[in-house]
Order: sequence, then structure tokens, then C-alpha cells
Amino acid sequence: MENEEQLDQDEQQGEIAEAYRAAAKEMGRDGELEVDDNAVVSFGSDPGAYVAAWIWVPNEAVGIKRCDSCERTELNPPDEAGWVETCDFDTLCPECAEEAKEDEVKGDVQT
Ligand SMILES: [Zn+2]
Repeated sequence: MENEEQLDQDEQQGEIAEAYRAAAKEMGRDGELEVDDNAVVSFGSDPGAYVAAWIWVPNEAVGIKRCDSCERTELNPPDEAGWVETCDFDTLCPECAEEAKEDEVKGDVQT
């Protein structure tokens, strides 16, 4: 009997946690603030609960450059280091940028 009561309570707690998760998902923004289906819910003493979420941090916010070609990563490279942004998403390290430039020139010669 005691076990059954405990089970009902756990089930109810699970439903309540699920309601908080659902509300948190509504408050989230795709690709910026996301909540997992099994996110941890922490009930506090204030009316409400904390729901664990993922915050997206873009490289620009940290000063990290990552080469899309060779995956080299550098924290705060100086501006004159030769990193090249080829569009909003693609960044090339100095070596890959140089290679891309050479390939472009070769391509011009062949056509
Ligand atoms: Zn590279």
C-alpha cells in the first residue's frame, strides 16, 4: 500500500516536471536556448522551478576563430593573423585561405 502511494506521488512529480519542461520549451528559441526532453527540473522554495537548458554561444562572442577547412581553432588571434571570413558561416585559417587563393588562380589559368 505504501509503495503504491509512493508510486502515485512519483508519477505526479513526473507530470509536474513535464509541465515545467513544456513551458520552458515554449520560452526557448530554436538554436539559441533549447530544453532537452529529459531536462533536469529543480523545484525551489519560490513559486516556480529551474529547468536545465542549453544556451548557444557563437564563436564571435568568445573571440574564437575556427577554420572550416582544417578545423584549426585559435582563441583571440590578432586581426593581422590572416584569418579570412569567406561568408557569414565560413572562416579560413591563414594557410587554408592561401591555398584557396592559389586554387582560385590555378582555376583561372585552366579556364
Ligand atoms: Zn585551415
